[in-house]
Amino acid sequence: MRRPGQWPLAAQLALAFALVTVLALGGSGALLLYQSSARLLAGRAESTLAWGQAAAGLAAEYWSDPREGMTLALYRFHQQSGIRPVVVDTDGRVVADVSSETPLLGERLTHPELQAALAGRTATGTRRLSTGEWVMYGGVPVVVSGEQVGAVLVAAGIGAVRDAQRDLLRQLALVAGAMAALAVLLGVLLARYLTRPLVRLRAAVARLARGQLDARVEPGGSSELRDLGHGFNRMAEELGRLDQQRRAFVADASHELRTPIAAIRALAEPLLSDRPIDVAVYKEHLHDIVHECERAGRLVNSLLELARLDMRAESRSQVSQAAEPIDLRRVAVEVVHALEPLAAERGVRLAILPGEPVMARADAHLVEAVLGNLVENGIKYTPRGGAVQVSVGVNVDGDRTEGGASLSAGSERAGAAERRRRAGGERDGAASQRPVAWIKVADTGIGIPKEHQARIFERFYRVDKARSRATGGAGLGLAIAAEAAARLGGRIHVASESGRGSEFTFTLPL
Ligand code: ADP
Repeated sequence: MRRPGQWPLAAQLALAFALVTVLALGGSGALLLYQSSARLLAGRAESTLAWGQAAAGLAAEYWSDPREGMTLALYRFHQQSGIRPVVVDTDGRVVADVSSETPLLGERLTHPELQAALAGRTATGTRRLSTGEWVMYGGVPVVVSGEQVGAVLVAAGIGAVRDAQRDLLRQLALVAGAMAALAVLLGVLLARYLTRPLVRLRAAVARLARGQLDARVEPGGSSELRDLGHGFNRMAEELGRLDQQRRAFVADASHELRTPIAAIRALAEPLLSDRPIDVAVYKEHLHDIVHECERAGRLVNSLLELARLDMRAESRSQVSQAAEPIDLRRVAVEVVHALEPLAAERGVRLAILPGEPVMARADAHLVEAVLGNLVENGIKYTPRGGAVQVSVGVNVDGDRTEGGASLSAGSERAGAAERRRRAGGERDGAASQRPVAWIKVADTGIGIPKEHQARIFERFYRVDKARSRATGGAGLGLAIAAEAAARLGGRIHVASESGRGSEFTFTLPL
């Protein structure tokens, strides 16, 4: 048996409606019943006392002749009114009674109404007789020439009052029952109406659970349900987007891996020919094969690096915080040092500006991943004779670095991570107050046209495919840098002008 809290909403609403109706009707019915009975009884008491006064008047008039005159007068009174008066003396003994069935003459009566009347007051009271009949008694003093000589007890049937009460009660119960049934019906209808958007949402959730990522609902109903519907649609959209992204990623990765494999095959096949081949040709082909293998190796490494970063993003929604503080400047010096041979080979001057250490609690490997890719790009996309300059510093006025027109950018995933962080709220407000470390990588290279700047952080995105291929890039370097920056809680801004050079700024809240 399920608890009412687990019943379908329609049943819960119907029950609540029925309860409220019965309680409201019951309460007001009881009040009505009480009030009307009180009024009816009060009216009856008044008339009973009036009859009592009349009987007392007759008794006083004929007090000296109780047997004949008084009994006759009271008998006539009884004939007219249907009220049976009994007259007692000051001891409570009956001196006149009009009933022929059970004459009470000489008996002592002890009705409380009579006691009160003998004490000089008028009084009424209701009682149920042994016959089951409801009766109202009234006691009135009998006064002769200013002196109380006895009292009169009158009795009137009040069965009609009781019947009226019973009728009212029955009608009330009937109305309450009908209303409760109506309330149940209304509750069910209302619940159906209210839960229609929920039912639609449930169906959409089921479709989504079956893998139909295009499942959407038409938001409707109360504002909360509407919000829920919109929320569901946003969630489904995000899921679809992620799914699409993942598919595109796999397709791109396969495509990129196919290129070096095809090249290796094209280089190796001629070597299998039966015709004699010059050793120099052999060597040249093998050299190219090794080159293609290196390319494929680099690609696989990049893919692995991205996969690792993705896994970190999924396993920990929080920003990575290394326990040990590191000197960002020192990390930058090491990266520059490691890339000096590449710079020398390309005829590009590479330098890091001198400065103070900048301490931060951050994962050194992630910082290296960011800087390594930025500096390597600087070298790759700067023609011979150009320069790449790295500088490190701290800003106290928030995220913005100088150089106004810089553009915030991030990979699609980093963008989503950014949105999540912003949604988190507290981090953003705090970040704009906290000091921010920055590392700039500026080059005098070919620059990036404005229309490409927003997209260069996407996976496999390259401004100039042919040129990038020649330099060995698959368009993953900046995607890795942006992911690593996001894991550190930082961002990468780019400012660049085609033909004049680029400046990438990595900022990291301290
Ligand atoms: P790749 O491996 O092709 O270099 P990245 O993700 O590192 O891929 O960069 C994406 C694209 O952005 C590059 O193909 C290049 O066109 C452009 N880019 C990146 N850095 C620079 C830079 N310093 N100067 C000019 N263009 C750059």
